[in-house]
Amino acid sequence: MKKHYLAAFIILLCAAIATAAELPRILVLATGGTIAGTGATATQTAGYKSAVLPVESLLSAVPQLHGIAAVRGEQFAQVDSKNMTPAIWLKLAARINRAFASDEADGVVITHGTDTMEETAYFLNLAVKSFKPVVLTGAMRPATAPSADGAMNIFNAVAVAAARASGNRGVLVCLNDQINGARDVTKSNTSTPDTFRSGETGLLGYVQGGQPLFYKNTDRRHTANSEFDLATTTALPRVEILYGYAGADAAAAQSLAASGVDGIIYAGVGNGSIFEGILPALTRSAKTAPVVVRSARAGNGPVTRNGEENDDKHGFVAGDNLSPQKARILLMLALTKTRSASEIQQIFNTY
Ligand code: ASP
Repeated sequence: MKKHYLAAFIILLCAAIATAAELPRILVLATGGTIAGTGATATQTAGYKSAVLPVESLLSAVPQLHGIAAVRGEQFAQVDSKNMTPAIWLKLAARINRAFASDEADGVVITHGTDTMEETAYFLNLAVKSFKPVVLTGAMRPATAPSADGAMNIFNAVAVAAARASGNRGVLVCLNDQINGARDVTKSNTSTPDTFRSGETGLLGYVQGGQPLFYKNTDRRHTANSEFDLATTTALPRVEILYGYAGADAAAAQSLAASGVDGIIYAGVGNGSIFEGILPALTRSAKTAPVVVRSARAGNGPVTRNGEENDDKHGFVAGDNLSPQKARILLMLALTKTRSASEIQQIFNTY
């Protein structure tokens, strides 16, 4: 009788090992944020402490993960994403590239604060050298809240990263049952769980019952097709953002242009228009040191080259429909290759 129990146990164990071996291998890199946050009380959803809980506790809160993937967690960083930096981006891209190059994982999930998630996502969209899925997720409510969104968001992000259908779509952002592309997504509300939106270009799909449902793809070059190779880059060029508004004083533009930055993103009014009072500071800068990219604070629509401003004459780059914070990232990467405004314009037309 005992022999039968032992045989049955061994068969079950082998079946479990075989199933685990067949499940997609997902590496979860935790970087902090509200998803790892705790409030002083259960109902505290503002002013709580971000980036506290370790990756083990994020994963153990979702035992259902064992049914969909062989998940391995790694504490990569532990920051509120307001303190995310290009130095961390470079290390994160290197870690992901290493994981894929050594066939350590079939997909990567990054848990991240929501404040700058879109920036990390777009950076990785240009820096990861693989078409395998990379999915960022986070939470708007700390883990201690009665309806914390983190656990479901982790489950969905792992499900998306584990699906073959998620490959070659660029880096994805998955929260609130929605899948958005890194290039278009932005945090649109300070507080609510449905904060991530892709503006007029729209989301890529949904995740339901552990399965992604995709409806479209990004047209722009990304990941393994990207020309940016940062393997030996230790620091990115410095690019700052200058905000446009009625009656802006020239002092900020002048001091930024003279500050030694490599590039300036102008978050212009309307179609990237520049107030005449600060135009001289920027045109001077375009002809000498910092490269100037015109973007728009409007949130939707492309900035037209030689439209509201004469880009050919002033040496500017038109920033397409990238938000100022994403135009900054693309300019940082473009500047690792060239300082020519016309070559940088080609890069903005491509990514
Ligand atoms: N301040 C937090 C962060 O970005 C907000 C969040 O994660 O939702 O890290």
